[in-house]
Amino acid sequence: MCGIIGYIGNKDSIKVVTNGLRSLEYRGYDSAGIAVITKNKKLLVRKTSGGIGDLVSILKKEKEMHKSLVAIGHTRWATHGSPNKTNAHPHVSCNKQIAVVHNGIIENHKELREILEKRGHTFKSETDTEVVAHMIEDFAKKTDIKTAISETVRLLEGAYALVIIDKNNPENIYTVRMSSPLTIGVGKNEYFISSDPAAIARYTKNIIFLKDEEIAEITKSSVSVSDFENTPVSHDIVKIELDVEEIRKGSFPHFMLKEIHEGREVVINTLRGRLIPHEEKIKLGGIESVRNQVLKAKRIIILGCGTSYYAGLVGEYLIEEIASIPTEVHFASEFRYKNSPVEEGSVVIAISQSGETADTLAAIKKVKEDGLLTLGIVNAVGSTISRETDAGIYNH
Ligand code: GLU
Repeated sequence: MCGIIGYIGNKDSIKVVTNGLRSLEYRGYDSAGIAVITKNKKLLVRKTSGGIGDLVSILKKEKEMHKSLVAIGHTRWATHGSPNKTNAHPHVSCNKQIAVVHNGIIENHKELREILEKRGHTFKSETDTEVVAHMIEDFAKKTDIKTAISETVRLLEGAYALVIIDKNNPENIYTVRMSSPLTIGVGKNEYFISSDPAAIARYTKNIIFLKDEEIAEITKSSVSVSDFENTPVSHDIVKIELDVEEIRKGSFPHFMLKEIHEGREVVINTLRGRLIPHEEKIKLGGIESVRNQVLKAKRIIILGCGTSYYAGLVGEYLIEEIASIPTEVHFASEFRYKNSPVEEGSVVIAISQSGETADTLAAIKKVKEDGLLTLGIVNAVGSTISRETDAGIYNH
């Protein structure tokens, strides 16, 4: 899943959104795009199959877009349809009224697309996302935009973070969260929307973490959150501590090289304050509260994807060697879908750099239903996995 940025306020919205997208670049992406509603109430979209640099040079010539009322941007990591300019987000409805950016997957997009095509909607892309724009437009013919959005999301199956703009409500932005992270940064007469709070940390540290099945309606001076039934719900503003430098590449040409060189420092940072040499102990404050349950663990199940899975394999050797607790490691992407009988008293350790890996998150939800204790080993502070697990350790 890739990156989302949105902005409403008096700043140059193109600048805010492209800066935010740059902060999300390190996650990887295959294309990018931006949509704005201009002061003349025009919905304009620009996309590229290149990088954010390309997008920025396209936008340089677009004077009108810089004076927009609202803006949304996206870096895409294709799940449905090839990575190209047409499939890049934002996606727009037939009458160019609604624009949508989306992180995640709409599992039932095929059925919804068929329904919409029968109703006369024409699709331009191969993505699962495009159904959202058309569906909202369809409902909005009969009702207000907020209701149209809630009616739409009630039909969606899957994981999605959505940010929506509507030409007929040019001073509002709408966001939806379902199993895919979405945060709202609170400024003074301005709001910043992002799938990752680190991307807007340079503007504000005051963050609203939307919960699953919540929709937010945002104007320059207010935010109101409701559930999918349109019932208002309360929300907290959390102050986060984030070092923006952490998300910069420093002097390295790309992030992989930077991370290879950071290995030594990373291990030191992870252990800092956690080693008590004279007692020959390691103290992990984040799992102190579940210490007794962990000590009684009959079996340990490690879940991860990609490199986290490989780290888990090393963990298996170490845990079995040192603690003599039977340990098994699974790809979270397999584990979440198969019937995996789990023994009572097992402890689950989920590993994820971003703390947002969708498959790992789904696997955690599954074992939580079985009543197992879940621990996270996560890098991104305040990420979804760090909040969904019972306890855990930050890599720092
Ligand atoms: N499923 C959507 C697509 O393929 C969104 C992918 C993403 O999260 O970037 O366009």
